[in-house]
Amino acid sequence: MSDDFRGTPLDAEDFEKGKVLFTRDEPKAEYAWDTGVAIGRYLQELKNGRLIARNCVKCRRVMIPPRMHCEWCWRPTDDWVYVQDRGLVNTFSLCYITWDMQRLKTPEIPAVIEIEGASPGHGIMHKLGGVDPKKVKVGMKVKAVWKPAEERVGSILDILHWAPT
Ligand SMILES: [Zn+2]
Repeated sequence: MSDDFRGTPLDAEDFEKGKVLFTRDEPKAEYAWDTGVAIGRYLQELKNGRLIARNCVKCRRVMIPPRMHCEWCWRPTDDWVYVQDRGLVNTFSLCYITWDMQRLKTPEIPAVIEIEGASPGHGIMHKLGGVDPKKVKVGMKVKAVWKPAEERVGSILDILHWAPT
């Protein structure tokens, strides 16, 4: 390798003493995340205490969370459909450790809830509550426990948890 292209090492002192041309800047990096049409409406309806899905008339599917495009037939989805805030536990886990590795005596119970009114297999990820962890079963009927209306903000957390019916 040729020595002609060697770099020039710099250290903090080179900057402090002005040996190097540089500029200071405070970036004002503000941004917003656009939820898109489908999830935007979904979150808006959560604030109203309702679950909404999209259907595809060609595939006869009702999809939640909603999406504006059907990945089966590659067409735009057709209509908004309100679905129930009830469902069945599709799968779940008992978590005795938090995200930051703290041990829990009472486990968190994340679960996929198949929503009544949506097509089989369509559900949302949430958590179970108000239930003895030892009694949770796949297929168990559950209902959303909502935050009080005045505390809802248009978030999936407007549902506190899902409890057995
Ligand atoms: Zn379709």
